[in-house]
Amino acid sequence: MKLDLRNVIHVPNAEKSFQFQLDLSDLEFWGRKPITRPILVEGSVVNHAGALVLNGTARSELDLVCDRCGKEILREKVVSLDTLLATELEDEDNEDDYFLLDGNELDLDEVVTTTFVLAMDTKNLCSDDCKGLCAKCGADLNLGPCGCRPEVDPRLAALAQLLDKES
Ligand SMILES: [Zn+2]
Ligand SMILES: [Zn+2]
Repeated sequence: MKLDLRNVIHVPNAEKSFQFQLDLSDLEFWGRKPITRPILVEGSVVNHAGALVLNGTARSELDLVCDRCGKEILREKVVSLDTLLATELEDEDNEDDYFLLDGNELDLDEVVTTTFVLAMDTKNLCSDDCKGLCAKCGADLNLGPCGCRPEVDPRLAALAQLLDKES
Protein backbone atom coordinates (compact mmCIF):
# COMPACT_ATOMS: atom_id res chain seq x y z
CA MET A 1 0.00 0.00 0.00
CA LYS A 2 1.16 3.51 -0.80
CA LEU A 3 0.38 6.12 1.83
CA ASP A 4 -0.13 9.66 0.56
CA LEU A 5 1.43 12.02 3.12
CA ARG A 6 0.79 15.24 1.22
CA ASN A 7 -1.25 16.64 4.14
CA VAL A 8 1.23 15.58 6.80
CA ILE A 9 4.68 16.40 5.47
CA HIS A 10 4.49 20.16 6.01
CA VAL A 11 1.77 20.37 8.65
CA PRO A 12 2.90 20.25 12.30
CA ASN A 13 0.93 17.75 14.43
CA ALA A 14 -0.88 16.39 11.41
CA GLU A 15 -1.49 12.66 11.51
CA LYS A 16 -2.46 10.01 9.02
CA SER A 17 -3.38 6.53 10.11
CA PHE A 18 -3.42 3.36 8.06
CA GLN A 19 -4.68 -0.18 8.24
CA PHE A 20 -4.21 -2.85 5.61
CA GLN A 21 -3.18 -6.42 4.97
CA LEU A 22 -0.05 -7.60 3.22
CA ASP A 23 0.52 -11.00 1.68
CA LEU A 24 4.09 -12.29 2.11
CA SER A 25 3.22 -15.95 1.68
CA ASP A 26 5.73 -16.36 -1.16
CA LEU A 27 8.74 -15.47 0.97
CA GLU A 28 11.01 -18.41 1.72
CA PHE A 29 12.90 -18.97 4.94
CA TRP A 30 14.83 -22.15 5.68
CA GLY A 31 13.34 -23.75 2.58
CA ARG A 32 9.79 -23.15 3.78
CA LYS A 33 7.21 -20.44 3.33
CA PRO A 34 6.18 -19.75 6.92
CA ILE A 35 4.12 -16.56 6.48
CA THR A 36 1.04 -18.41 5.33
CA ARG A 37 -1.46 -15.89 6.68
CA PRO A 38 -1.86 -12.25 5.69
CA ILE A 39 0.04 -9.73 7.79
CA LEU A 40 -2.30 -7.30 9.53
CA VAL A 41 -0.77 -3.84 9.57
CA GLU A 42 -1.94 -0.76 11.44
CA GLY A 43 -0.40 2.45 12.62
CA SER A 44 0.02 6.11 11.84
CA VAL A 45 2.44 8.73 10.64
CA VAL A 46 2.66 11.87 12.78
CA ASN A 47 4.41 15.14 12.08
CA HIS A 48 6.30 15.92 15.30
CA ALA A 49 7.67 19.43 14.87
CA GLY A 50 8.67 18.70 11.31
CA ALA A 51 9.94 15.15 11.91
CA LEU A 52 7.83 12.42 10.36
CA VAL A 53 7.43 9.55 12.80
CA LEU A 54 5.85 6.27 11.88
CA ASN A 55 4.46 4.09 14.65
CA GLY A 56 2.68 0.86 14.01
CA THR A 57 2.54 -2.87 14.28
CA ALA A 58 2.51 -5.75 11.84
CA ARG A 59 1.15 -9.05 13.13
CA SER A 60 0.65 -12.47 11.70
CA GLU A 61 0.87 -16.13 12.59
CA LEU A 62 3.80 -18.15 11.32
CA ASP A 63 3.75 -21.82 10.36
CA LEU A 64 7.11 -23.01 11.66
CA VAL A 65 8.81 -26.29 12.41
CA CYS A 66 10.90 -26.86 15.51
CA ASP A 67 14.60 -26.96 14.65
CA ARG A 68 15.19 -29.79 17.10
CA CYS A 69 12.21 -32.13 16.93
CA GLY A 70 10.53 -31.14 13.65
CA LYS A 71 7.13 -30.57 15.23
CA GLU A 72 4.93 -28.02 13.47
CA ILE A 73 4.32 -24.90 15.48
CA LEU A 74 1.94 -22.04 14.88
CA ARG A 75 3.37 -18.90 16.44
CA GLU A 76 2.04 -15.39 16.66
CA LYS A 77 4.52 -12.80 15.45
CA VAL A 78 4.11 -9.12 16.28
CA VAL A 79 6.63 -6.67 14.90
CA SER A 80 6.74 -2.98 15.74
CA LEU A 81 7.19 -0.64 12.81
CA ASP A 82 8.54 2.38 14.65
CA THR A 83 10.78 4.41 12.38
CA LEU A 84 11.51 7.87 11.08
CA LEU A 85 10.62 8.98 7.57
CA ALA A 86 12.54 11.39 5.40
CA THR A 87 11.56 13.25 2.27
CA GLU A 88 15.09 13.18 0.96
CA LEU A 89 18.37 11.49 1.69
CA GLU A 90 19.66 13.60 4.55
CA ASP A 91 22.67 11.79 5.82
CA GLU A 92 24.10 8.85 3.92
CA ASP A 93 25.83 7.53 7.02
CA ASN A 94 22.53 7.04 8.79
CA GLU A 95 20.64 5.76 5.79
CA ASP A 96 19.40 2.74 7.73
CA ASP A 97 17.74 4.84 10.40
CA TYR A 98 14.85 6.01 8.30
CA PHE A 99 12.69 5.20 5.30
CA LEU A 100 12.71 7.50 2.34
CA LEU A 101 9.51 8.84 0.81
CA ASP A 102 8.91 8.78 -2.91
CA GLY A 103 7.64 12.31 -3.41
CA ASN A 104 4.65 12.55 -1.08
CA GLU A 105 4.18 8.82 -0.89
CA LEU A 106 5.43 6.22 1.52
CA ASP A 107 5.73 2.67 0.24
CA LEU A 108 4.26 0.93 3.27
CA ASP A 109 4.66 -2.51 1.70
CA GLU A 110 8.40 -1.92 1.63
CA VAL A 111 8.47 -0.74 5.25
CA VAL A 112 6.48 -3.75 6.45
CA THR A 113 8.36 -6.28 4.31
CA THR A 114 11.81 -5.05 5.36
CA THR A 115 10.93 -4.78 9.04
CA PHE A 116 9.08 -8.09 9.19
CA VAL A 117 11.80 -10.03 7.36
CA LEU A 118 14.54 -8.61 9.60
CA ALA A 119 12.50 -9.58 12.65
CA MET A 120 12.21 -13.25 11.68
CA ASP A 121 13.93 -15.49 14.21
CA THR A 122 16.96 -17.46 13.09
CA LYS A 123 16.06 -20.32 15.41
CA ASN A 124 12.65 -21.80 16.07
CA LEU A 125 11.98 -24.16 18.94
CA CYS A 126 8.65 -25.63 20.05
CA SER A 127 9.82 -24.86 23.59
CA ASP A 128 13.10 -23.67 25.02
CA ASP A 129 13.77 -27.03 26.62
CA CYS A 130 12.81 -29.16 23.61
CA LYS A 131 14.81 -32.37 23.91
CA GLY A 132 14.83 -33.02 20.17
CA LEU A 133 15.03 -36.37 18.44
CA CYS A 134 17.26 -39.34 19.28
CA ALA A 135 20.19 -39.33 16.86
CA LYS A 136 20.02 -43.14 16.64
CA CYS A 137 16.36 -44.10 16.36
CA GLY A 138 14.71 -40.75 15.62
CA ALA A 139 12.24 -40.99 18.51
CA ASP A 140 10.85 -37.74 19.90
CA LEU A 141 12.65 -37.47 23.24
CA ASN A 142 10.02 -35.02 24.52
CA LEU A 143 7.69 -38.02 24.79
CA GLY A 144 10.13 -39.89 27.03
CA PRO A 145 13.41 -41.80 26.74
CA CYS A 146 13.59 -44.04 23.67
CA GLY A 147 15.56 -46.94 25.09
CA CYS A 148 18.70 -46.36 23.06
CA ARG A 149 21.84 -46.44 25.15
CA PRO A 150 23.45 -43.06 25.55
CA GLU A 151 26.26 -42.38 23.09
CA VAL A 152 29.62 -43.18 24.70
CA ASP A 153 32.32 -40.56 24.32
CA PRO A 154 34.81 -42.14 21.85
CA ARG A 155 37.74 -41.03 24.00
CA LEU A 156 36.29 -42.84 26.99
CA ALA A 157 35.64 -45.91 24.86
CA ALA A 158 39.30 -45.97 23.80
CA LEU A 159 40.38 -45.64 27.42
CA ALA A 160 38.07 -48.46 28.45
CA GLN A 161 39.70 -50.72 25.81
CA LEU A 162 43.16 -49.91 27.17
CA LEU A 163 42.11 -50.68 30.72
CA ASP A 164 40.54 -53.95 29.57
CA LYS A 165 43.85 -55.07 28.03
CA GLU A 166 45.82 -54.21 31.12
CA SER A 167 43.67 -56.18 33.48
ZN1 LIG B 1 10.80 -29.28 19.47
ZN1 LIG C 1 16.76 -43.73 20.32
